[in-house]
Amino acid sequence: MHPSIKIKKQYHCLICFNDLLHDFSFQSINGKYLPICQTCQNQFERANLHFQIQHYPIWILYYYNDFIKKLIYQYKGCYDIALAPVFLADFIEQLKKKYKDYVILFPPSTDQDNQKRGFLHMEEIAKQIHQNVWNIFYKTENYKQSNIPFDNRSLIHKVIGIKNFKVLENQKILLMDDIYTSGNTIQTCLNLITKNVVKIKDLQILCICQAKKKTVEI
Ligand SMILES: [Zn+2]
Repeated sequence: MHPSIKIKKQYHCLICFNDLLHDFSFQSINGKYLPICQTCQNQFERANLHFQIQHYPIWILYYYNDFIKKLIYQYKGCYDIALAPVFLADFIEQLKKKYKDYVILFPPSTDQDNQKRGFLHMEEIAKQIHQNVWNIFYKTENYKQSNIPFDNRSLIHKVIGIKNFKVLENQKILLMDDIYTSGNTIQTCLNLITKNVVKIKDLQILCICQAKKKTVEI
């Protein structure tokens, strides 16, 4: 690229396309790059929940509301990859600092979903933190968690596998997911890690959102 050609910065909100330069809050932030406007950011309902699953700390950023539901649908269901940066935007500096030397893992989607979408949806979100994101889990059969009754969701452990787990030895691991519901997917991934990896330096969990009235499982 010719040195005089500067990379065009994004000055429009990735969600509503409003001009970010006319957004007062955007102008008031000292050089901090935000991909969305304050109006859209305000529609994310902060939860900031911290609890434990199998003694491992989990952090949930937001409550699941209609706004986030639509965004996730647009991103995952309508393949709008441009939305990948919006989910962590408000916490991104904190996340980059906290997890800078962690390898990031995420639960698998079916190969069919991945092919249709053309990208791994959690991988793209995780890469907003840093590039050390490993696609290490796989689905053993075509099975969609949202299609089965809540009581049967524990069956999920039968359909997730782990490959190349040796690379996780002596690593700090961050397991990331989008929506925390029954906790079964996270627990299955945790079990696969703890059963296969002899020495884990640290293991933490980060989820984007959780339904508001759900009782927290510990
Ligand atoms: Zn906006």
